[in-house]
Amino acid sequence: MPHAHVDKRVDPGNPISYVTGVIQTERLKALFLELVRIDSLSRREGRIAERLRTELAALGAEVEVDDAGAAVGGETGNVIAHVPGTGPGEPLLLCAHMDTVEPGVGVKPVVEGDVIRTDGTTVLGGDDKSGVAIVCECVRVCRELELPHPPLEVVFTICEEVGLQGAKHLDLGRVRARHGLVFDSDAVGFVFTRAPGSNGIEVVVRGRAAHAGMAPERGISAIQVAADAVARMRLGRIDAETTANLGLIQGGRAVNIVPEEVRIRGEARSHDAAKLDAQTAHMRECFERAAARHPGAVADVKVHRQYEAMHVSDDSRVMRLVRAAAREVGRTIESAGMGGGCDANVLNRRGLEVVNLGTGMREIHTTSEWLKVSDMVAAAEVTLSVIRLARSPG
Ligand SMILES: [Zn+2]
Repeated sequence: MPHAHVDKRVDPGNPISYVTGVIQTERLKALFLELVRIDSLSRREGRIAERLRTELAALGAEVEVDDAGAAVGGETGNVIAHVPGTGPGEPLLLCAHMDTVEPGVGVKPVVEGDVIRTDGTTVLGGDDKSGVAIVCECVRVCRELELPHPPLEVVFTICEEVGLQGAKHLDLGRVRARHGLVFDSDAVGFVFTRAPGSNGIEVVVRGRAAHAGMAPERGISAIQVAADAVARMRLGRIDAETTANLGLIQGGRAVNIVPEEVRIRGEARSHDAAKLDAQTAHMRECFERAAARHPGAVADVKVHRQYEAMHVSDDSRVMRLVRAAAREVGRTIESAGMGGGCDANVLNRRGLEVVNLGTGMREIHTTSEWLKVSDMVAAAEVTLSVIRLARSPG
């Protein structure tokens, strides 16, 4: 009964009234609180996927699940929902991820007025259930108010937090939309159009074990070789577009054994592909040259591309839509660059044009994570306006 809930504030002659005051704060908050209480660590998204399939089917969407779950060894694939258009226009993608980071089991949200936080023992999972809840509320409002909109394609991905695996394995044969929004960042009032590409680096330095007291000259210290390499390496902030880090180091067996093996893991990121390649090559070279300075030592360096950079133009169709939508609801939205990757990196690489809209999540990936419901409402209003404006003119 879509008419039963029509809000009298909606005046078809006044575009602002189409999108402000129609997002139902309490309903959005209730769905968000329900979703964060459903455990959904990466590869364990089965329960939340089931809940969201029900939610979307009740909103008149045709819902399917792709085969990405099998590819990543998870409980479910990506949830893909097709909401038929009620007006002309190209399909619009609305995408958020279902998985959360650890510690994320048994979330007990604490509500303090407009703020929702954790009890300090887990993350909140606002990353990215704020995005999921915003998308569901917007689809619901579209249906209730019978707002004219193009076909909407909702994609709730798995395994974003473990290398954007859901987006990488997303079955694009089931998705017609070629532009849209990803909801997976903090700052409301910003839309992220640029993000770095990243290389992961895994190094094994091998020396030779020997008794440290009886015959140290027979050994080659892998720790010393690794230290030699790291001491000459440019790390941290390389330039405005590029960063590098070695984050993990493990090695050695005992204090009286010359260590024969050290394992090191790190990464490089850059908005510029050539700079990313140069920094990665520099890190590799530091290890290989250090090994060469210590005859008998070997450095085995493996590099893998974690994700590609994204750079969506401010003149792109989706950015023009976002700016017009923000204007319509009396806000300004600025484009910005992110320091990390998200599903948008992958989707842009795979031929879509998507930008990442802030949802209000704060201090993500920590047990102090929190958000303001009013920020989610603001993001939902902009989204609803994007949906409305995504109709083709005429
Ligand atoms: Zn996220």
